[in-house]
Amino acid sequence: MRNKLLLGNWKMNKTTTEAKEFAAAASSLLEIASAHHVDIGVAPSFLSLEAVRKALPAAFIVSAQNVNEHDHGAYTGEVSIPMLKDIGIDWAIIGHSERRSYNAETSLACNAKIKALLAAGMTPVYCLGESLETFEKGETKAFVSTQLKEGLKDLTPDEARKVIIAYEPIWAIGTGKSATKEIAEDVIGFIRRTLREHFGPVSEDMRILYGGSVKPNNVREYMECPNIDGALVGGASLNIDSYRELLEGMI
Ligand code: PEP
Repeated sequence: MRNKLLLGNWKMNKTTTEAKEFAAAASSLLEIASAHHVDIGVAPSFLSLEAVRKALPAAFIVSAQNVNEHDHGAYTGEVSIPMLKDIGIDWAIIGHSERRSYNAETSLACNAKIKALLAAGMTPVYCLGESLETFEKGETKAFVSTQLKEGLKDLTPDEARKVIIAYEPIWAIGTGKSATKEIAEDVIGFIRRTLREHFGPVSEDMRILYGGSVKPNNVREYMECPNIDGALVGGASLNIDSYRELLEGMI
């Protein structure tokens, strides 16, 4: 059985003080989540990772929002995998659409990061999804299929099994215009079939999340879909009451 997963992406929000306040209030949610086979986590900014990690129980996932694939070197402004591991962080979001747009990250660049994370025993959350233009042209599946092929290039089935996929249509991120559960399930079902073609039966163990304007009032709809294993949530994960309601909607 695939555990459901609620992962909050805080983007460039919250000072370390605010992040610690959230963590103190969120800590008690782990027991409720675990009792219902839901994994929960947050992805604070690099600056707050250590404080949030220390403030939460080990089973509460604390993820980076990005990482550099090189262990060390002349990469000004970057953060490496050993730096994350040193402070107890073993998850990282890779290829979020904002990084693809503002930092020109390609799926092949994501592939290098995913391989480096897997080699270090860490968990990558690989984000993909199409623009409004691609969606309106009816080319979503072809687009997503290329992102999958490039992002997961040369992975063995055993490695692929450890990757979490987040389908996030760009037109739904931060817009309040979420994909219907039918659209999300259709694309995520397609992603699972594509994973099966590439990696075989391990595709049934792989968790695939939906992201894009998930809110407490619509999260349950997605969770009722057979292929959707959880949610990657931006805006609605920032407030502790809303985060708790998201969890309640998943159990
Ligand atoms: C995200 O940041 O991954 C996201 C889905 O944002 P939002 O929930 O605000 O649309």
